[in-house]
Amino acid sequence: MTDSNVIEIENLIKIISKLPGLGPKSARRIVLKLINNREELVKPLTNALAQVYKNVVRCKNCGNLKSTNINCICSSEKYNQICVVENIADMWVIESTGIYKGHYHILGGTLPSFEGKNNKNGLLIDSLINRVKKNSVKEIILATSASVEGETTSYYIADSLKDTNVKITRLAKGVPVGGEIEFLDDGTLYSAFKNRSPLIND
Ligand SMILES: [Zn+2]
Repeated sequence: MTDSNVIEIENLIKIISKLPGLGPKSARRIVLKLINNREELVKPLTNALAQVYKNVVRCKNCGNLKSTNINCICSSEKYNQICVVENIADMWVIESTGIYKGHYHILGGTLPSFEGKNNKNGLLIDSLINRVKKNSVKEIILATSASVEGETTSYYIADSLKDTNVKITRLAKGVPVGGEIEFLDDGTLYSAFKNRSPLIND
């Protein structure tokens, strides 16, 4: 495959090939498609990207993505269940299965397995505790991964909530060890959710 010799096109190919699931070859096909559809694709895409760049931020309270133009869903409603996930991809996977329709809390990662408590690394744990207290939440469903870090994070959250009356459950062990929620098939995720059990915190 030869280079196009057009610097703008080469730049675009470089950027697009960094996207998940795309290599240089598919990036070239995408760019060609774009160039051949300037009005139908390039213009609206440019506009949509600019809007996302300008208006989409992470909510400091629940970790979800929100538009700066509207209040986040976490501040506008009362709710009694929160499903805690590590990242947005995990939330989208759970949402797409339709197993759970309540509110989410996106931590933004996990605590390291060592010195977990002193190294929260900007994880949204304090705001989770606040949400539980403010909304009289009845159940926290911990859907962090089954890795050591995921477990450490779960126990830390459970420990932080021990003074509240909230019921804390953890996804069933159907989740493979080290398995990330994002890569689970619907069936495994469904049974892990359905068979979730109270987290015993000693
Ligand atoms: Zn929010």
